[in-house]
This record gives sequence, C-alpha cells and structure tokens, in this order.
Amino acid sequence: MPHPTLPRRRLMLTALAGGATLGATPAATQPAADPAGNAAAYRFRIGAIRATVLSDGLIGGPPAVYAADAPELELREVLRRAFLPADRLVLNLNTLLLETGSQRILLEAGAGATMGPGGGRIFAALAAIGLAPGDIDAVVVSHTHPDHVGNLRDAEGGRAFPRATVFAPRADWDFFMGAAPDLSYMPVPAEFRQRFGAAIRHSLEPLRRDIVLYEPGAEILPGLASLPAAGHTPGMAAFLVHSGGDQLLLTADLAYHPVVNIDRPWRPGPDRDPASALAARQRIFTRAAAERLPVLGFHFPFPGLGHLLRLEQGFAWVPMGWQF
Ligand SMILES: [Zn+2]
Repeated sequence: MPHPTLPRRRLMLTALAGGATLGATPAATQPAADPAGNAAAYRFRIGAIRATVLSDGLIGGPPAVYAADAPELELREVLRRAFLPADRLVLNLNTLLLETGSQRILLEAGAGATMGPGGGRIFAALAAIGLAPGDIDAVVVSHTHPDHVGNLRDAEGGRAFPRATVFAPRADWDFFMGAAPDLSYMPVPAEFRQRFGAAIRHSLEPLRRDIVLYEPGAEILPGLASLPAAGHTPGMAAFLVHSGGDQLLLTADLAYHPVVNIDRPWRPGPDRDPASALAARQRIFTRAAAERLPVLGFHFPFPGLGHLLRLEQGFAWVPMGWQF
C-alpha cells in the first residue's frame, strides 16, 4: 500500500481545485441530446466476430490525477502541444460489443451516472444499432471501478442487462465488495474516495448472487481470453479477442490517455499497486508492439483503436484510420 508523500498531497489539492467529478447519485439517467448528432457506434471485424465500439460518453478530471508522477510544468507543456486544456483531461468510455453469431458480449459496462453527467450513453448507442439491453448475453468487465460497472444497475435497483451473465475479476470483487476497502492510495479528496467506493458497491449489489468471478489468464468465453494485468486494481485483466488469425488487444486502464500514459510514460494516479501496474503495462505493451496487435484503449479518444509502436525509449500511440 503506497503511503502519502509530499507530491501525492499536492496532487490531492490539485484534484480538489480542479473539481474531479463523481456523480452524487449513481443511477442511470438520460444524458442531454447531442447537438451535433454524431454516431456513438463504430463497427469493424475481428475475424468472424462483428465488433462495435459503443461509447458510454465522457468523464474527466484534473490531468495530474491521470499522470501522477509528471512534473507540473512538463505536463502543462505536453497538454499544450496536444491542444488539450491544462485544467481537465477528458477520457472516453469505449465499451466493445462482440457479436459472435451465437452470443452478444459486452466488454466493460461503462460509467452510467457514477462519474458525472457525461456517461450513460450506452443505451442510446445500443438503440442506434437496433439493440436493447435484453439482447446482451454477457457483460465482462476488466475491473470494478465505477466507470466500468456503473451501468450494470438500472434506476430501479435491478439489473440493467436483464439476461446477461456478468463476469468480473475475483480479486476486485473481494477487495471492493469486502468490508471497508482502504482507498487511501487514491490521489483524490477523501469525500471523492468515499463516493467512488459507494458507487462500486451500489452498481454491483444487484448482481451479488449470480455474478461470475474469474481469474485473469482464463479464456472467459470462446474467442475472449483474459490476461493478468493487476496493479491498477487487485484483479484487473486485459483482454485478447481472437477469431481465426485476427486479434484485438484491450488494454483496460493500463493507460488512461495516450498523450500522458503512452507517448509519455506517466503513471495513472489511481493505480493501487504502482510497481505491479508498471510491470503489467510494460509486459502487455511490449507484446502488443512486438506482435503488431490492433489495440483498443477503453479511455482513448473515440473509437480508441490503434497500435503501440516500440521506440528506443518507451512507446508511441498510433491511431488507426477510420473505416467505412
Ligand atoms: Zn477506467
């Protein structure tokens, strides 16, 4: 368990000043209509599997939370050069629907209203491609942070995906659903941490009796392998979707934003065990670059698809071109 250090205290103040958002009432709400009416669904194929990135919307917070060890001035300059604001880093919520022919599997549930008003779009995105929550057979989450499980509970306290078998890593369930998980490692105000923990329990409570807990490393469903990637949370998994010779690697929260966690190797502040998280990031990024795997970043700019390029020192993110 990391202990508070001076830089960490400074981060907490930054988080407070920057107004990291976390919804007060984690329940499904309808986001405002999109003025531009842009699509929130992006289709492509992984072998025989039809894949669709479905956006649950946007969350965000002070950049220093997502790049915890970045020197303040350097972080400011990196954001400026990427034409990003200095006071708030926006993160996407790129859930992925897999249609295998026999099953519809959703990878990550999205935030819903648990992390502010910008989430909760997944139901509109599903409707836009002609599907309802009842059409989903399985929901598999990489870890149980609120932005990955927030949509699992509906406004009435039931299951938002009524027919779906939900899979979550066992070590996350044990930690976050156990009595009083210690979240003091998170570089955010205590009140934010309290609501963060409550949002996880609130979202997962309706599933208590029939959630399926997995050990990362297992083939969870045909075509969907999980890879151990613990560190960000006790049980986080990355995913490898495979069909025929095609593969797609999902990096979960090994990186929040390519500008600060790939192109610069800064550390996501909410990593519970920074050394393990760094080792997982290094191991999985190295494999992605060596095998030239297509990658989906859950929080990367929509639709979040690209490749990791190995550099002499570190990695670079190379977004994939849009396909029609
Ligand atoms: Zn996340």
